[in-house]
Amino acid sequence: MNSEKLFEEAKKYIPGGVNSPLRAFKPNPFFVERGEGSYLYDVDGNKYIDYCLAYGPLILGHANPQIVEALDNQAAFGTSYGAPTEGEITLAKEVVDRIPCADKVRFVNSGGEATMSAIRAARGFTGRDKIVKFEGAYHGAHDYCLVKQGDGFESLPDCSGIPLDTTKNTLVVPYNDEEALTALIDAEGENIACIILEVIMGNIGFIPPKPGYLEFLRKITEENGIVLIFDEVITGFRLSRGGAQEYYGVTPDMTTLGKIVGGGMPMGAFCGKEEIMDVIAPVGPVYQAGTFSGNPMSVVAGISMLNQLDDDAYANLEEKGSYLRGAMADIVEDLDLNITPVGAGSMYQIYFNPNEILNSVDAKASDADRFLVYFKELLNEGIFIPPSQFECNFLSTAHTMDDLDNTVIAIEKALKVAFEK
Ligand SMILES: *Cc1c(COP(=O)(O)O)cnc(C)c1O
Repeated sequence: MNSEKLFEEAKKYIPGGVNSPLRAFKPNPFFVERGEGSYLYDVDGNKYIDYCLAYGPLILGHANPQIVEALDNQAAFGTSYGAPTEGEITLAKEVVDRIPCADKVRFVNSGGEATMSAIRAARGFTGRDKIVKFEGAYHGAHDYCLVKQGDGFESLPDCSGIPLDTTKNTLVVPYNDEEALTALIDAEGENIACIILEVIMGNIGFIPPKPGYLEFLRKITEENGIVLIFDEVITGFRLSRGGAQEYYGVTPDMTTLGKIVGGGMPMGAFCGKEEIMDVIAPVGPVYQAGTFSGNPMSVVAGISMLNQLDDDAYANLEEKGSYLRGAMADIVEDLDLNITPVGAGSMYQIYFNPNEILNSVDAKASDADRFLVYFKELLNEGIFIPPSQFECNFLSTAHTMDDLDNTVIAIEKALKVAFEK
C-alpha cells in the first residue's frame, strides 16, 4: 500500500480521509509507518526529519525509549481504572512545582478540554458570562473559542454549527493592542469572567507579546476582577521548565496545558490559584469530569517526559533553536529575501512577509500560497514541517547537529525554489 492509495481508501470511511483537518494536505498526506527520534518513516519508504512533532508534543522526539518502557510497564498493569493512582499525584506535584501560577491542577484528555474547563471554572468563580480572546488565537475546537471578530465588538462563529447565542459571549480583540482591550474593558469589564491568550500565538505562526504587554494584561485584569488565563498548551514545558509565564516573568491566575504534559499520549490539564481551582466539583459547584481523565497511560508517559526535561534538556533545545534560527537568518540575508524568520527556544517559523508581525492581521498578509511551495519542496528534500504558514515548527532533543545541517541545506534549496532565485 502507498500513501496515495491509502488516502483514497481513508476518504471512503473518514471525512476527508483524516481525523483532524490540517493533516489533509494536497495532493495527499503521507501515511506514517513509524517514528523514531527526530525521524518519521512513511509507508512509501521515505524518511523525514520531523519539525511538526505531532504539532508540538514530542519534545523528546518519537518513541523515546524511557517513555516506551513506562508505557509497556503500565499497559501490562491495565490502561484505565476509574479510580485514582499514585502517579496522578506525582505528575500533579511536578506541574505545581514547575508552573508558577499553579497551586492545584486537574488533568483532562486534550488541550481543548483544558481550555473549555478553565473557562467554565473562571465563569463559575466570577459569576460572569463573557470571555475575551484574541483574534487569531486557537484554544481548541469547542464552541466558546472558535470565534472571530465581526464589526466593532460583535463576535461571529468561525464555522457553521456554532450558535450566535454562544459566540455573543466571546469577545475578540487584536493581540498586542492595549487600546482595543482597554476600550473593551471600559465598556464590558464587569461582565468579563476571563481573558484567555496564547502568550506566544503559535497557531498562526509565531507571534510573541510586545515588551510590556503581558504586564499590561496582568494589571488590567487585576484591576477589573478578571481571571487571566495563559493557554500554554504549546509553550508549557517547551519554552522553559515553567513555560512562557516563567520565560516572561508574568504569572497569570490560571494556565491550560496539553501536548507535552501527557508525554505524547492524549492529555490536557488546567491549573491555577487554589481559590479558583476549588470551585471545581467535588469541592465546589462547577461540574467537570471525564472517563479517561488522569488515565494511567498518559500519566506515566507524562511523568517520564517531565523527568527527562531538566535544565540540560532546555539548554540543548535553546542551543539547537538558536543555531537553526541563526542559519535561517543568514540564508534569508544571502538570498536577499524580504521575509521574516521568527522564533524562540525550540519554536520557529518564517513569515513570507517583509514586516514585523504583531497580530493576526499582520500574519494574514503573508504569502501563504508561496509558503506551500516551500513546504512541498522541503518535503521533497525529506524535511517535514506543518503544511501551513500559520503553524509553528518545533525542535526536539532528538534532533542531531547533522539533522540541523541537512535541514539548513534543504531550507536554502526550498526558499530558492519558492522565490524562483
Ligand atoms: C493544540 C492547542 C489546543 C488544543 O489542544 P487539543 O489537544 O488539540 O485539543 C489549545 N490551545 C493551544 C494553544 C493549542 O496549541
